[in-house]
Amino acid sequence: MKTPYYLIHKKMLDEGMEKLKAALKEYWPNAVIGYSFKTNALPWVLDYMKRHGCYAEVVSEDEYELAEYMGYERIVYNGPVKGKDSFLRACRAGHIINLDAEREIGWLREFTVSHPEALAKVGIRVNFDLEAMCPGEASGGEEGGRFGFSYENGGFSKAVEELRAIPGVEISGIHMHCSSKTRSLGIYKAIAETACRIQKEWGLDLAYVDVGGGYFGGLSNKPQYADYLRVMSEILREEFDPAHTALIVEPGTSLICPPIEYITTVTDVKKTNRNHFAVTDGSRIHIDPLMTKKSYFYRTEPAEDGRERNTAAKQVVSGFTCMENDRLFVLTDSPELREGDRIIYEKVGAYTMCLSPLFIGYFPAVYLEEDGKVTCVRRKWGAGEYVQQSMIEGKKV
Ligand SMILES: *Cc1c(COP(=O)(O)O)cnc(C)c1O
Repeated sequence: MKTPYYLIHKKMLDEGMEKLKAALKEYWPNAVIGYSFKTNALPWVLDYMKRHGCYAEVVSEDEYELAEYMGYERIVYNGPVKGKDSFLRACRAGHIINLDAEREIGWLREFTVSHPEALAKVGIRVNFDLEAMCPGEASGGEEGGRFGFSYENGGFSKAVEELRAIPGVEISGIHMHCSSKTRSLGIYKAIAETACRIQKEWGLDLAYVDVGGGYFGGLSNKPQYADYLRVMSEILREEFDPAHTALIVEPGTSLICPPIEYITTVTDVKKTNRNHFAVTDGSRIHIDPLMTKKSYFYRTEPAEDGRERNTAAKQVVSGFTCMENDRLFVLTDSPELREGDRIIYEKVGAYTMCLSPLFIGYFPAVYLEEDGKVTCVRRKWGAGEYVQQSMIEGKKV
């Protein structure tokens, strides 16, 4: 198989899914898993999640249409910039919609006028001051998060009042997703406490509490699904009854990050006045498209050519793009890498293959490994895929 490519390990994926389901069963049996499309929307992955009973968790009109295309019967529609057409379609289909913005309340009003017989059930995304509850941990930091209706400044209570005033609209849920720098248990404690506070203050009759995603997965030294769910369940049970209120979780990373590897080959070794490079056919754009990670999980598999290897004081492993910062890691006092050696990056399934640009190299192939058998689940993109939908002088290329 020509490198670079991604490799999905089916057993690891299954194990993560089983752990999540077991934890939900133990701590909140009335639960729904909404798989976060944006984390990795490879069609094979979307189909896998659907087969395992997940709802689609989508945050744009394109993702909404992808969920329909992939045959999802249940959709959780989130996000700050929903499309009006798909929003109204979701209302008609009775999908779970978590309102994020004032204009969506306007759309709901229109919907109830045109569908006087319908009952539109919606959730409200809560914007609360996570940074105040967990200092240093919220992704928005001092600047705060920008999604949902603010609990502290009265935006949330205004939304509740507006919705209550629309005949045919029912507030059926609250959406608490927060992204954090730490994925700590404290984040989920804050989420559960805030949900309880809202319940106490508003006496809502909620069909669901959506606690969002953002969990660790596949790392034995980090919190497990059971830890997150134990913490949340203990708190939520003070205000909510699992028999009456469902828990929605929206995992992305924790499910799909661990089981995917990215396989690359050393193509060249180059010594310069200042450095010693091992050039590879992989790139940071495929495992860290935002170029923000400081280190990667990787292992090397030396080509077996039987030749002795010297030790190199410093080797800079770099990628195929023409950007100088496409340098993946530095090896110190290690055996010299050679053409043909493999470098395999581990746990790279989240925010990688769906976030990487079509820059210099097009999307790599994706393979699936199951019981040692490998099959292709996406062929490499080439010029044909790259030019699709383009026009030259009014004609399709
Ligand atoms: C991104 C996102 C998720 C998934 O987050 P992970 O960190 O990948 O688990 C879930 N819900 C919403 C609303 C999101 O925006």
